Amino acid sequence: MVQLKSKSEVEQMRKAGAIVGQILHELKDLAKPGASTSDLDLYAFTRTKELGAKPAFKGYNGFPATLCVSLNEEVVHGIPSKKRILKDGDIVSCDFGVILNGWYGDSAKTYPVGKVAADTMKLVETTEKSLQLGIEECKPGHHLFDIGAAIQNYVEQFGYSVVREFVGHGIGRSLHEDPQVPNFGIKGKGIILKPGMVLAIEPMINAGKPEVKVLADGWTAITVDKAWSAHFEHTVAITETGNEILTKF
Ligand code: MG
Ligand code: MG
Repeated sequence: MVQLKSKSEVEQMRKAGAIVGQILHELKDLAKPGASTSDLDLYAFTRTKELGAKPAFKGYNGFPATLCVSLNEEVVHGIPSKKRILKDGDIVSCDFGVILNGWYGDSAKTYPVGKVAADTMKLVETTEKSLQLGIEECKPGHHLFDIGAAIQNYVEQFGYSVVREFVGHGIGRSLHEDPQVPNFGIKGKGIILKPGMVLAIEPMINAGKPEVKVLADGWTAITVDKAWSAHFEHTVAITETGNEILTKF
């Protein structure tokens, strides 16, 4: 069942989302050649505490870290490590959530590390743009799958593909609530969007084929064909007139 949030509940989620947006923005400056993925995680953990929130992912189904850090062909749920060092030309996807006063915020960004190849930058920019197009469909009266249709139609024209195994989700007092929000689908299908729905929209876009597999660590999802992947996410509230991005910096 999709839980509608009151204005005061959305206000709580706005506070959680602001912390997520702030810290993800700050991580951009740490995503430099020579940094380890653990450095990014430690920074996110420390800043989360400083800002009075709790990490949302640490301990979630046993996930061991504050931040999911996924490099290049890794799609999502990468586990930070002191041994994983960012190199010039990499892309690093940081997925991050917090809990503040019982309310969740969830967002993700893919950062270029140093100077990346033009075709890689195109993948990153296209994925970010697809999130924006998905968010533009978040209006009362629109259908849920209008979001995924906008994302899929946009990215596939560049020869990219949409990951099917991982989808967006409702969010509120839990990290993952109904409904699931696929990043693919047919316009006009799915439930009708209403004010008070809060959705985490999170396209994961592959430069190659859509298939992914999970590594032996039980978490890290990579593309089967080893083509690179990008991931952007925002927590978005449906309002009377349209939407509000709650995790914006
Ligand atoms: Mg996320
Ligand atoms: Mg999410």
